[in-house]
Amino acid sequence: MPNKSQQQKKQKFSVSPDFTLNEEFEPFNEHYNVFGRIMWDKEYMNYHKFMYDKVPLIISDGIPGYREIDHALAIASWTVHDYFRSAFSWEKLNKPANVMKIPEPKQYPIDESNIQEVTQYVKAIAKLFGASLVGITAFDPRWVYTEDRVGTPIELPEGLTNVIAIAIEMDADAISTSPSMTQGFANGLGYSNMAALVASLAEFIRKLGYQAIPSGNDTALSIPIAIQAGLGQLGRNGLLVTRQFGSRVRLCKVFTDMPLLHDEPVDFGLTDYCRRCKRCAEACEVDAISFDEEPSFKSYPPSQNKGILRWTIKADLCYQFWVDNGGECSTCITSCPFNMRTAQRYLEPEKFWEKKLEDKE
Ligand code: SF4
Ligand code: SF4
Repeated sequence: MPNKSQQQKKQKFSVSPDFTLNEEFEPFNEHYNVFGRIMWDKEYMNYHKFMYDKVPLIISDGIPGYREIDHALAIASWTVHDYFRSAFSWEKLNKPANVMKIPEPKQYPIDESNIQEVTQYVKAIAKLFGASLVGITAFDPRWVYTEDRVGTPIELPEGLTNVIAIAIEMDADAISTSPSMTQGFANGLGYSNMAALVASLAEFIRKLGYQAIPSGNDTALSIPIAIQAGLGQLGRNGLLVTRQFGSRVRLCKVFTDMPLLHDEPVDFGLTDYCRRCKRCAEACEVDAISFDEEPSFKSYPPSQNKGILRWTIKADLCYQFWVDNGGECSTCITSCPFNMRTAQRYLEPEKFWEKKLEDKE
């Protein structure tokens, strides 16, 4: 017999006109996503296939966008994300011993009289730290992973009430070279920016005496949180599509008990647009994106969760392409008309370098 919270998690509900769950839905276990399964699932088609395995062979051909320098740029762009792991600490960060002592936080009073002002400050401060879009929504336990990538159960602290959802624009020139290794720079830098941003925003919130849990791709699904917070809608490409940048954003979030006002989900007609468009599905080199006329509850478990009305992508095929490509692909991002409002559909890797070298002169 499911308990009350399990029943609540399974109930059918809708958070925006194009995002509906049915009774098959249950919170996702990150241990089963592509990056979890490559480590432990011997039955999995991508078991122990790693994204950079083929790089030495690929770069030996010296093809523009697939040269040593392109790969080195992509790898270097991850540095802050990969080495500053404290960015995602659930606790206040410890200062090194040789800096001045900071006074202990005293909780900043927030009530009806100033909640609007505090909410504006939080959004402005997220932007000061590098956010492109910010929205706030109620904490919803249905999006929290049951286990992390290595199989450790996730138990968030009690009392979290809100989530600050953040989108960070990725470099338009680099990503337009997809699927080359050069575009990996846009991804890696997005992740590094995300680490610095959520760590700094979390410290700001803690300094005002509230809990803050910074999160990248870990801990909870970022896309439904971003949808609930009004940053965009779910596209045929399986990603958040924003009006401003399409899917050319990295998503992150900060969970908190700080009282804040909420944003509403938005509907700019994306579902209807995606019914007719299909450019991402046509552009995908491995047919990982659905051409179905209508979104459905079709899914490809266990790498992804069930019970969500959407166009589902075949994540296993997508990752296989990344391995063959020697790095990530973003072609379903660059081919989207919502991306092309602010970026080119395609930029040859040589042109990317010409442009960047000119920029620096
Ligand atoms: S990232 Fe590339 S391979 Fe994966 S779904 Fe998008 S276009 Fe297809
Ligand atoms: S490319 Fe077209 S079908 Fe794909 S997500 Fe963008 S708007 Fe939707």
